[in-house]
Amino acid sequence: MGLEMRKKCERCDTKLYDYSVAYICTHECTYCEDCTKQTKHVCPNCQGELVRRPIPSGACPIQTKKEAVQ
Ligand SMILES: [Zn+2]
Ligand SMILES: [Zn+2]
Repeated sequence: MGLEMRKKCERCDTKLYDYSVAYICTHECTYCEDCTKQTKHVCPNCQGELVRRPIPSGACPIQTKKEAVQ
């Protein structure tokens, strides 16, 4: 509830799925893992800290597990 799930990275336009590893700042700017690493977990838009986006319940647990291992 509340969190808007964005479908792509705001920096490089990489597609992000619900179960993808993604990072968000407090203003819900959304980035892929690569961009998060490149920006050292700092949002380029607002300088906020980027944290791992929670995976929504309902996402496939097998897919989720696969992502986590990589
Ligand atoms: Zn990106
Ligand atoms: Zn931001």
